[in-house]
Amino acid sequence: MKSLNIPETNLKRVVIIGAGFGGLEVVKKLSSKHYQIVLIDKNNYHTFQPLLYQVATAGLEPDSIAYPIRKIFKSKKNFYFRNTVAQNVDTEKKELHTEDGILKFDVLVIATGSTSNYFGNKRIEQLAMPMKSVPEALNLRSLFLENFEASLLTSDLTEREKLMNYVIVGGGPTGVELAGAMAELKNHVLPNDYPDLDIRRMRILLLEGGDSLLKAMNKKAGSQAEEYLQKLGVEVWLNTFVNDYDGDTVTTNNKSLPAKTLIWAAGVTGNLLEGIPKESIDRGRILVNDTNLIDGTNSIYAIGDIALMNSVGPMGDPMVAQTAIQHGTNLAYNLNALAQGKSPRPFIYNDKGSMATIGRNRAVAEIGQIKLKGILAWSTWMFVHLITLVGFRNKMVALLNWVQSYFTYDKGIRLIIRPFKKSKNVHDNLPPHS
Ligand SMILES: Cc1cc2nc3c(=O)[nH]c(=O)nc-3n(C[C@H](O)[C@H](O)[C@H](O)COP(=O)(O)OP(=O)(O)OC[C@H]3O[C@@H](n4cnc5c(N)ncnc54)[C@H](O)[C@@H]3O)c2cc1C
Repeated sequence: MKSLNIPETNLKRVVIIGAGFGGLEVVKKLSSKHYQIVLIDKNNYHTFQPLLYQVATAGLEPDSIAYPIRKIFKSKKNFYFRNTVAQNVDTEKKELHTEDGILKFDVLVIATGSTSNYFGNKRIEQLAMPMKSVPEALNLRSLFLENFEASLLTSDLTEREKLMNYVIVGGGPTGVELAGAMAELKNHVLPNDYPDLDIRRMRILLLEGGDSLLKAMNKKAGSQAEEYLQKLGVEVWLNTFVNDYDGDTVTTNNKSLPAKTLIWAAGVTGNLLEGIPKESIDRGRILVNDTNLIDGTNSIYAIGDIALMNSVGPMGDPMVAQTAIQHGTNLAYNLNALAQGKSPRPFIYNDKGSMATIGRNRAVAEIGQIKLKGILAWSTWMFVHLITLVGFRNKMVALLNWVQSYFTYDKGIRLIIRPFKKSKNVHDNLPPHS
């Protein structure tokens, strides 16, 4: 019989689902003196999502943006990690049902993050490439390299054109950074790797439904990013919506495009669990009050991307790592306070700014009133990402890779380790639960 084998104690049990930015912060700051702490994640590692695009474009190894959860908490007392999938919550009985057994809780923290949102278009969901996890980024890397190998193995020019066209949907930081990194590969790496292929024919198109890129930043940052991308050879199509994709042709409200690869970075929705009261769900996210407590419950909290604190506005705080970290810190503070009979404090978001990088020496950043661009913004981006990467080894490996590729214009990890076979459903290539 399957069992999670968590020992019974006199301490209250806090169960946290998700070892992302928010979940990790709760565990780090929660008092082992007052609580037994159980962390559940479907992976045995934490993923640093902001650098997934570098894995997809052969700039970093997957190991340098992922970190083993057990290693992070090796000295934490009264702490248990279980590598399993949370399925549903029984809010009445205070039970979490997982793939490997049922767990009673006194307090539950849902920190399951978000997943790609295809806005109901099943065909696009089946055929577009997402980039929300390490396996998905690795699939993209393999497909990218396989397409070039396949381009050399066909004399059908229409087929070759489809293989060499890359369409990225979504002009937010993910789409912009991915397009910039792909353009760097096109400009500096691929011509040397494939001297007998006319790499100039490779097209990178960034499609955005709105009238500017990087909507979450100021207008200038969006137009600066567009200018940088165009200099790198990326075609930016604004006011363009993708209506359909059949694996060979992308149909938009603008023009149709032949392309074997459609990368989806156009929206996210919460990773919901069964059992959350329907009235507490809004647009795929869980409604919480200003202490992250789910409306209608007294001990179930949601934090990070999955949580929608609509007291601050209809969309809540931005779905970024800082929101998740700060939710986690505040919730741990509150749970520690409650254990000592003190009152919880409301959450107040401290906006530390946003930034996006577009190839070497080019980035845009907005930190309070300060707006940066070019090499200054790019250095700031590098510094912030290096210090926030989890683990000393990961910081060092990332730094070494960046220094090496800065001076050599090379990206060293152009390996097809796990070939990606395109089927009628891209998700067939993923390990379960990724
Ligand atoms: C490609 C990309 C680039 C990004 N770039 C930036 C950036 O530059 N700056 C920035 O601030 N933000 C960025 N973000 C957003 C940022 O990563 C998220 O806002 C942040 O990760 C949210 O943290 P979280 O703790 O809510 O969830 P996550 O970090 O997503 O963690 C969720 C965790 O829950 C686990 N999980 C989910 N469902 C289950 C389940 N049913 N059972 C068990 N475990 C489960 C997952 O395995 C995961 O470990 C980016 C996101 C992506 C995808």
